[in-house]
Amino acid sequence: MMARLRLQPQAVGVGMTSQRVRDRLAERLREAGIADERVLNVIRTLPRHLFVDEALASRAYEDTALPIGHGQTISQPWVVARMTEEVLSAGPKKVLEVGTGSGYQAAVLAALGLEVYTVERIGDLLRQARKRFRSLGLNVRSKHDDGRIGWPEYAPFDAILVTAAAPALVPDLVEQLAPGGVLVAPVGGASGQSLLRLERKADGGIEERTLAPVVFVPLLAGTLD
Ligand code: SAH
Repeated sequence: MMARLRLQPQAVGVGMTSQRVRDRLAERLREAGIADERVLNVIRTLPRHLFVDEALASRAYEDTALPIGHGQTISQPWVVARMTEEVLSAGPKKVLEVGTGSGYQAAVLAALGLEVYTVERIGDLLRQARKRFRSLGLNVRSKHDDGRIGWPEYAPFDAILVTAAAPALVPDLVEQLAPGGVLVAPVGGASGQSLLRLERKADGGIEERTLAPVVFVPLLAGTLD
C-alpha cells in the first residue's frame, strides 16, 4: 500500500528532475534486475532530487551515489531498491533503518506504507532529513544516536536495514529482529564489502546469505552535532 505523498510544485520537478526522468530511472532499475513493482512505483513517485543539494539536483536520477555533506552519501538507487525489495520479502510492518543520511531510504520505506524508525549519528544530516519527511507528509520516527545500539524501546522489528558498513554484523541489531524478520547490511572493510541478508526463522534459527558486492560509507561510533 502506497502512502499518499504531498508533492509541492518543487517536488514535481522540471527538466532533469521531471517525471519523465524518474520514469527512466525506474526502467533502468528494472533492466538491472529490480522486479518488485511496488519498489519501482516508489522510485517513480518519490522526488529524489529533494534529498540532495540543489546544485546536484540534475544528477539525482542517475543510478549513482551522491555526496550529501559531512563526507556522507545518499545511496545508489539500485542499492536502495535492492535492499527494499529484500526486506519486503519478510512482509514487514515495523522497520528500523540505521544511517538516515539524506532520508531517501527511509522515505522509500514510509511511502510503501511501512512504520519506519531511523537513527542517524550526525545531527545536521538528521535535521535536514526531518525537514524532507515533513514537507513530503511522510510519517518517519527518527532519533539522533549511535544506531549500533538499535532502538530497543521499539524492538523487535520485522525488518532492519543498515546503510553503513561494519566489519561484521552488529549483535544488538540482530537481537532486535523479530522471528520471521529480515536484516540487510553491508559487511566488510577497505578490501571490499558485501550486502548480507540475515533471516531469523520462525523456529529461532538464523539463515544468512550474501546478495551482492556493494560500496557504503563506514558505520562509525558515537554522535556528532
Ligand atoms: N540511508 C541513507 C544513506 C546514508 S550514508 C540515505 O538514503 O541517504 C550512511 C549514513 O549512516 C551516514 O549519514 C552516516 O552518518 C550514518 N552512520 C554511520 N554510522 C552510524 C551509526 N553508528 N549510527 C547511525 N548512523 C550512522
